[in-house]
Amino acid sequence: CGIVGYVGGQSALDVVLAGLKRLEYRGYDSAGVAVLADGGLAAAKKAGKLANLEKELADRPLPAGAAGIGHTRWATHGGPTDDNAHPHLDNAGRVCVVHNGIIENFARLRAELTDRGHELASETDTEVVAHLLAEAYSSCGELAEAMRQVCRQLEGAFTLVAVHADEPDVVVGARRNSPLVVGVGDGEAFLASDVAAFIAHTREAIELGQDQVVELRRESVTVTDFEGAPAEVREYHVDWDA
Ligand code: GLU
Repeated sequence: CGIVGYVGGQSALDVVLAGLKRLEYRGYDSAGVAVLADGGLAAAKKAGKLANLEKELADRPLPAGAAGIGHTRWATHGGPTDDNAHPHLDNAGRVCVVHNGIIENFARLRAELTDRGHELASETDTEVVAHLLAEAYSSCGELAEAMRQVCRQLEGAFTLVAVHADEPDVVVGARRNSPLVVGVGDGEAFLASDVAAFIAHTREAIELGQDQVVELRRESVTVTDFEGAPAEVREYHVDWDA
């Protein structure tokens, strides 16, 4: 439903939570966040309102993080439970992903992953993406390339945003038939399903085109198609007030 990603000098946790609040108007049934800090990945997710997630974070604090992602979920596959809330992690807990939309071929992908020894913890279509990213990453060693390889296997509509503990200053996004916007700041960058999530920080935006992958770092935004060819980016200034 709502997606936010951030890399930069502020507390990623605070920026992501504030962004999710700006997207609350869209309606949702669960919420979750993940941050990269101290060489690892830490996540929290709860069914219900953002207030439930904030209570969880008060009980079990997460580090601020230099990069992070967040999601508000509108369940399509699997009920609104803590386990089905995003982010979804691989079995090693090194990579995680949030997703808007529907992965149409998830049942076949899930069966193949189970055959290869993966243990899936949710009923969502989304979780297969975390496991596929982990597999692709272990052979190519680069999150943006892993995302391109995974997207080529997916059918349906998706906005995906992922982080990997081995790339502590990178956030990667991808989209097909579902919106994803980049916000470019000074030494920081944002990703969101809607510019409302980041216009308090920057109004310089890039709208991702169909079937594109973006790699966000503090000082750079790199966009390619699903094959890895550099893509034309359309930069624009957000001049409305929200
Ligand atoms: N299909 C995914 C799920 O049910 C994503 C739903 C959404 O767009 O929030 O978990």
